[in-house]
Amino acid sequence: MLKHTLQDLAGKGHRGFDCSDGSLEKLAGWGAQPQQICETLQDIRLDLGDCQRCRLAEDRKNIVFGAGSPSAKLVFVGEGPGFEEDQQGEPFVGPAGQLLTKIIEAIHLRREQVYICNIVKCRPPRNRNPQPDEIKTCFQFLDRQLAAIRPDFICALGSVAAQTLLNTAVPISRLRGCFHDYKGLKLLPTYHPAYLLRNPAKKRDVWQDMKMLMKEYPYET
Ligand code: URA
Repeated sequence: MLKHTLQDLAGKGHRGFDCSDGSLEKLAGWGAQPQQICETLQDIRLDLGDCQRCRLAEDRKNIVFGAGSPSAKLVFVGEGPGFEEDQQGEPFVGPAGQLLTKIIEAIHLRREQVYICNIVKCRPPRNRNPQPDEIKTCFQFLDRQLAAIRPDFICALGSVAAQTLLNTAVPISRLRGCFHDYKGLKLLPTYHPAYLLRNPAKKRDVWQDMKMLMKEYPYET
């Protein structure tokens, strides 16, 4: 339409109309929807900076942003860093982390293939649960990490992760055992590895959840 109008005007002797393919292509783009520019994990980490947005900044040694593959198909979300994680700046590197590594390997994956992060990025004092206002302040960063990675699956480890992501107070014992939806991503709640260290009998339930995950996980053949 635009092309014909311009060609018509040019044909009638009006000057100054550039009807080249390049110019017409450029003009056609002017009305188009802007492409969704997706931020990267690096952009999000930069924005987090030396975060002082909540009181957890006071006692932390390191921000624990997350670790693993930026194109992971599976993201594990824990509650918040513990002592070892705070010391090292890496998620799940303490005793619960060693059990998480075993769970990941049991489903035929390696830690580098998945992404691991937490609801809050700084260690709550004495490993207490993160408080609602701390979760509220920090949650945007996890939400943006998930939007940047767009995994097929999220595995929420424990009640804080599952209840926060699903915005519910339903106990983890009732949330686990099936897939839920988080913004179009499949979310599977299961027990936290630290809870399994205290209650080894619950490992059976986690294994059942992991078998559900394995049935749907797009393993490369
Ligand atoms: N527990 C968590 O919830 N996250 C960690 O990173 C370590 C222990």
